[in-house]
Amino acid sequence: MIPYGKQSIDQSDIDAVVETLRSDWLTQGPLVEQFEQALCKHTGSAHAVAVNSATSALHIACLALGLGEGDSLWTTPNTFVASANCGLYCGAKVDFVDIDPVSYNMSVTALEQKLQLAEKDNSLPKIVIPVHFSGTSCDMRAIHALAQQYGFKIIEDASHAIGGRYLDKPVGCCEYSDITVFSFHPVKIITTGEGGVCTTNDKTLADRMHRLRSHGITRDTDLFTQAPQGAWDYQQIELGFNYRITDMQCALGLSQLKRLEEFIELRHGLADSYDVLLEPLDVITPSRNSDSYSALHLYVIKLEQCDAHRRRQVFDAMRAAGIGVNIHYIPVHTQPYYQAMGFKPGDFPQAEAYYACCLSLPMYPDLSTQQQQTVVDALTDALQQVTS
Ligand SMILES: *Cc1c(COP(=O)(O)O)cnc(C)c1O
Repeated sequence: MIPYGKQSIDQSDIDAVVETLRSDWLTQGPLVEQFEQALCKHTGSAHAVAVNSATSALHIACLALGLGEGDSLWTTPNTFVASANCGLYCGAKVDFVDIDPVSYNMSVTALEQKLQLAEKDNSLPKIVIPVHFSGTSCDMRAIHALAQQYGFKIIEDASHAIGGRYLDKPVGCCEYSDITVFSFHPVKIITTGEGGVCTTNDKTLADRMHRLRSHGITRDTDLFTQAPQGAWDYQQIELGFNYRITDMQCALGLSQLKRLEEFIELRHGLADSYDVLLEPLDVITPSRNSDSYSALHLYVIKLEQCDAHRRRQVFDAMRAAGIGVNIHYIPVHTQPYYQAMGFKPGDFPQAEAYYACCLSLPMYPDLSTQQQQTVVDALTDALQQVTS
């Protein structure tokens, strides 16, 4: 099976992890901070807080921004469930903004319309989480302008987008957001096994997220709320978690970060080849946007003259041919858990129409030209089978 995504691990990655295993520290050693500093250098952000997953990163980002009961968080339905669940973890209400039919990212027009309605009935969101779907940045300048006007905070879910750029700056620089979150799950652009990070330019937010990562404990005597009991003292001043990442993971992350630029170039080469190879087929290839240099986590095509039945036939034929195509994403509001909260099919028609026709083709740095041809041949056959 040719998978849809896969990590690329070379000898330098292996050596880096083995070296950590022989060191004094397996976790909570010097590499966590080194990894954070390297991420700051890459993104141009002032602070980075590395944690054990992007899901944890989204959770502590929401908490640091003060999200709680009585608040609401909005995100896109075309994402992994984690982008929405973080709001529920904090006791907030979650709602969605439909997508743009060309970029598949959160529609700025839909966001503006929803904000206008929410202002009238006093239900404006505290946080909006745009997701840079497939690695292509959302229209952050426009979303940031709406944040200024309506007073909400922005967390960029850039789980797909490390190595990408927006208006010639690295995604994660937080020029148009409060916090950016990246994922280092093995299918993403670079990996630490499991892992994630929050970047921000706000020191107060960074300090708070560092604390929430480790039980809400501080060793900074300035923050103590009781007199210090001695040099051993640490004080828990709020409720946090164990969301720590290990030195072993950060060793891998540091080594992978060195390969990031090469990974993105390889992904672009693959996307360019797909664009050409797919030209004769009845499929819509991903749009390109001059504001954004995509990290190309995913290469998503849409089938033309499509419905859910035809897409299912193509999907099944591809899987039968040994091609690990995938679907990104089942709209979050149609998940059983969200339907039980009152959402229903039909609520976000653009996301649902897109979902009925989308197909993610294999895309990862080690995918060979020959494998890519195999994917396109299988797709050609699959499309012929379903039309005949
Ligand atoms: C993968 C992913 C997450 C969750 O990342 P983990 O590191 O697995 O917790 C969140 N949001 C999006 C958009 C993702 O693709």
